Amino acid sequence: MVINPPEYINKIKPYKAGKPIEELEREYGVKNAVKLASNENPLGPSPYALKAIEKSLLKLHRYPDSGGYELRKKLSDKLEISMENIVTGNGSDDIIALLCKAFLKEGRKVIMPDPGFLMYEISTLSEGGIPVKIPLKDFCIDLDKIADSADEKTALIFITNPNNPTGSFITKDSLEAFLEKIPENIIVAVDEAYMEFADEPYNSHLLMDRYKNIVSMRTFSKAYGLAGLRIGYGLMPSYIAEILNKIRQPFNTSSSAQLGAAAALDDSDFLSRTRKLISGEKKFLKNALKEFGFNVYDTQANFIFAGIDQSADEIYEKLLYKGVIARSMSAYGYPQHLRFTIGLEEENRLLIKSLKEVL
Ligand SMILES: *Cc1c(COP(=O)(O)O)cnc(C)c1O
Repeated sequence: MVINPPEYINKIKPYKAGKPIEELEREYGVKNAVKLASNENPLGPSPYALKAIEKSLLKLHRYPDSGGYELRKKLSDKLEISMENIVTGNGSDDIIALLCKAFLKEGRKVIMPDPGFLMYEISTLSEGGIPVKIPLKDFCIDLDKIADSADEKTALIFITNPNNPTGSFITKDSLEAFLEKIPENIIVAVDEAYMEFADEPYNSHLLMDRYKNIVSMRTFSKAYGLAGLRIGYGLMPSYIAEILNKIRQPFNTSSSAQLGAAAALDDSDFLSRTRKLISGEKKFLKNALKEFGFNVYDTQANFIFAGIDQSADEIYEKLLYKGVIARSMSAYGYPQHLRFTIGLEEENRLLIKSLKEVL
């Protein structure tokens, strides 16, 4: 006898994460492998965060502050927003899941870009919601089509800015024009995991004054180099924050995560070193990829989306033998596209050298 979950749970396809370095080295017998698959920060964690985390360890026998006061206070000052508008999560994945848990029930729809970040679909299906997947247009999020698809059954819309996996960008003007078209009883969740890498980052949450249905999500996993710590946050009107706070786990963020993230916010030197590395290496990689015949798209994130007249899965597999983990986009519906996270200078050189051998 087994207990079966509801049918909508059976429909979920498991999340496929980027291959960990240790797994590649174990399975392929390669050494000094390089991971350019999960858009992590190649400079390591913010040093300020490390120091704060070390200090936090002495208090691990205590439960964390359920309200995450120190981190929310810092964010509130930095982002010019009231503390009651900030909800912290176990990564921004947690905020995505909480929004779905709070606002979905069977039959309610969630609109999302296709391809897009897999957690939107997984979290939607987990609550019995219906994913409505709107194809990208010229590799950008099709805001017009998304607005046209919203109906009375729609509870939530996810958009990603800069977009993953293509790196395309939505300007503040187009976001505002979009919000103008969306009824206020549909929540628009803007996933800004890569906003710190944008040429001209902007604070979409300030639009909250005019639009009572916007939620902006950010993370410490990318630009701040803290993917393993699991900490992110959502900025939202207080009525939504109250709902999420009711249903989240009281200790969804650890004390180390809260204090590490709070310290990272002060590490402007680390952030500017990160931005500088990424923008410089982006130029180098884009040019090198173009020379191999890749079609390279404009990107405002820390990765490059590129197409070529060959099987992406094969290139991905051959790169593994060279000790380079990239991401094939075939599972995302692009069998001839790959996504390369921008790494350290020497990592990107290894990628280019390996591609030369593989292509
Ligand atoms: C990496 C990423 C996130 C961040 O997830 P965390 O749970 O904060 O690590 C969110 N959205 C997108 C689109 C991402 O690529």
